[in-house]
Amino acid sequence: MSEYKFIKWFEELGKKDVALVGGKGANLGELTNAGIPVPPGFCVTAEAYKYFVENVRVEDGRTLQEWILDIITQTNVDDSKQLQENTAKIREKIISMEMPAEIAKEIVDAYKKLSQRFNKDAVYVAVRSSATAEDLPEASFAGQQETYLDVYGEDDVLDKVKRCWASLWTARATFYRAKQGFDHSKVYLSAVVQKMVNSETSGVMFTANPVTNDRSEIMINAAWGLGEAVVSGAVSPDEYIVEKGTWKIKEKYIAKKEIMIVKNPETGKGTVTVKTAEYLGPEYVEKQVLTDEQILEVAKIGARIEEHYGWPQDIEWAYDKDDGKLYIVQSRPITTLKEEVKAEEAEMTEEMKVLLKGLGASPGIGAGKVVVIFDANDIDKVKEGDVLVTTMTNPDMVPAMKRASAIVTDEGGRTCHAAIVSRELGIPAVVGTKEATKVLKDGMLVTVDGTRGVVYEGIVKSLVKSEEEKAEGKVVVAGAPLITATEVKVNVSMPEVAERAAATGADGVGLLRAEHMILGIGAHPIKFIKEGREEELVEKLVEGIRKVVEAFYPRRVWYRTLDAPTNEFRELPGGEDEPEERNPMLGWRGIRRGLDQPELLKAEFKAIKRLVDEGYDNIGVMLPLVSHPEQIRKAKEIAMEVGLIPHKDVEWGVMIETPASALIIEDLIKEGLDFVSFGTNDLTQYTLAIDRDNERVFKLYDEKHPAVLKLIENVIKTCKKYGVETSICGQAGSDPKMVKLLVRMGIDSVSANPDAVELVRKTVAREEQKLMLEAARKRLFE
Ligand code: PEP
Ligand code: MG
Repeated sequence: MSEYKFIKWFEELGKKDVALVGGKGANLGELTNAGIPVPPGFCVTAEAYKYFVENVRVEDGRTLQEWILDIITQTNVDDSKQLQENTAKIREKIISMEMPAEIAKEIVDAYKKLSQRFNKDAVYVAVRSSATAEDLPEASFAGQQETYLDVYGEDDVLDKVKRCWASLWTARATFYRAKQGFDHSKVYLSAVVQKMVNSETSGVMFTANPVTNDRSEIMINAAWGLGEAVVSGAVSPDEYIVEKGTWKIKEKYIAKKEIMIVKNPETGKGTVTVKTAEYLGPEYVEKQVLTDEQILEVAKIGARIEEHYGWPQDIEWAYDKDDGKLYIVQSRPITTLKEEVKAEEAEMTEEMKVLLKGLGASPGIGAGKVVVIFDANDIDKVKEGDVLVTTMTNPDMVPAMKRASAIVTDEGGRTCHAAIVSRELGIPAVVGTKEATKVLKDGMLVTVDGTRGVVYEGIVKSLVKSEEEKAEGKVVVAGAPLITATEVKVNVSMPEVAERAAATGADGVGLLRAEHMILGIGAHPIKFIKEGREEELVEKLVEGIRKVVEAFYPRRVWYRTLDAPTNEFRELPGGEDEPEERNPMLGWRGIRRGLDQPELLKAEFKAIKRLVDEGYDNIGVMLPLVSHPEQIRKAKEIAMEVGLIPHKDVEWGVMIETPASALIIEDLIKEGLDFVSFGTNDLTQYTLAIDRDNERVFKLYDEKHPAVLKLIENVIKTCKKYGVETSICGQAGSDPKMVKLLVRMGIDSVSANPDAVELVRKTVAREEQKLMLEAARKRLFE
């Protein structure tokens, strides 16, 4: 039926057409052909864009495409000012150039035909962008380009199509493509032109009862006018309950609909709230919105959509005044169903189909329903037992992480936020999968193997069962506790797990991270200080740290001062002023920042001082990311200013996290140190020049690289000479192979994650015995 060269009706499109009309266009085609009544429309294909840029010429004779690509080649996308200026120039140019008549004629003709379907000369349409990459049609550019609503008339439509084309060159989209390695010359844009529903009545529908979780029922809400009224909760709508299959209307609740929302009749754009009695007539206030026949029509379409997606849906629908027909405006999976999921979980599979691979960051097996979230505002969607999927977790997501049965992220390495927190909570996690948020969809059932770093489709019976058996079969053998000469300690980030960590029998806390406590307070710490609420911040710290020093008393706890990179701070309320750093790992973090903003360091020291005054004599203070002797000196001065006396009130130490600190260890010791602790996460990253959170280079990340080991050995030797205690608190302290090497080097203590304490203790004990045995044999046989 292709009557056009540059245009395709939704009816002509399907999944296979992503290269031609982008993901959005193809999806609308797919739904139309599946019999789901989406508002009708057409796509101005990627071919049209291509024709436009390849045929239209700029003043000097170059084609528009050549002109654009010349500018882009000369643009450094990391220079944001240049990027903004150059992309603005491109967009202006596209908008100023005339659209070839061949294309314009077709668009005008299709728009007329669309309007005629509604017996009108012109209808309101939405014009949306749907980008596509020639080589990688499945690439997702969702949300990066423009959408225009309430577009009316030929000229307006033509103008908006051109503006969509131009939006292929926003700074954000251009930057994204450059960073993702897309060829700018092969990225095109299709414009989707779709009828805007002129709602007579509208509402939402849940294809499973969201109140009772009953999947045999459909619940429909309906109101007069635009759907916003129902979605936003401005109007209490009618409610109808329909039984699936028998199509019986089980319940009807007719609400009093005093107001309604309609399109602004004066401007044709935007909406206004009006009184139903005045706009439609007084009898409409308490009139049933949908006829019984319409209720069933809506319900049946709902059931069909649920079948199409294989999961209950939350759907927005509307009847269009212009043709009296029912249209589906939006559909998304219901993410709050719980009881029913359990029933489905019972249907386990034996098949082990791998959906994703990544880094096993927290061991164990977790299974459940996928919930994808992109920011902390959505954490309520994650219910007990769900599998939390996100790009990267942040401290605001911790409440949801606690409810999850497993955690899967796109980004990150074994020491990223998601990895640290999930290990501490004992929740299986796979990080650095690169595409979990794309591959995994809301409502899917999956099994996550956090030991091996694999996500399987469905609930894999054998894996889940073996995990259950492991838990049941755990036999605790009572006997003398294993005493090792090398102390085995534990790392703690969240005060609420202190009891659990202490119950491992660890010899102390080798690293109490401040970040999770401070970032979890809910606002940027500087905001507290600026607003004169320093006392509140100090008290919060006192509360958090006290939980840990109390749970472990009299075992020692080393508190490390704040070391959050600027990108993590930025996430917090009040974090807007954080500088944009090109490489936050190399930037303003650790003691460097602490000394630049001594008010923060002071708040931490004040909190420690209060605990010392309460009688806790088991605290140590550890400075992060030290590279210069004077950093130790200055930090001590700040501590003294608030009355905290290093070496007397608290043990005083530094992290060895930079090659510099390892190479000048003697100079650092001369400043006065009770202990040092290897932060191998950072030490490895800085020695090997590998961003520890970058999953692309993670395979080269190795804490046992000879260069890292050499630095460590050198520090241990020097510290022995000066009587300074040595320890490790990086992730490598949980790795038995590394632990063996460290015991041989003579390290004084090893600090592991809670889940690894037992294994590390056994490893240390065996290695120590081996050393003694080797020494004894040497004496015997030499
Ligand atoms: C480290 O760098 O090894 C360390 C323990 O600190 P963090 O992971 O918090 O940077
Ligand atoms: Mg570190």
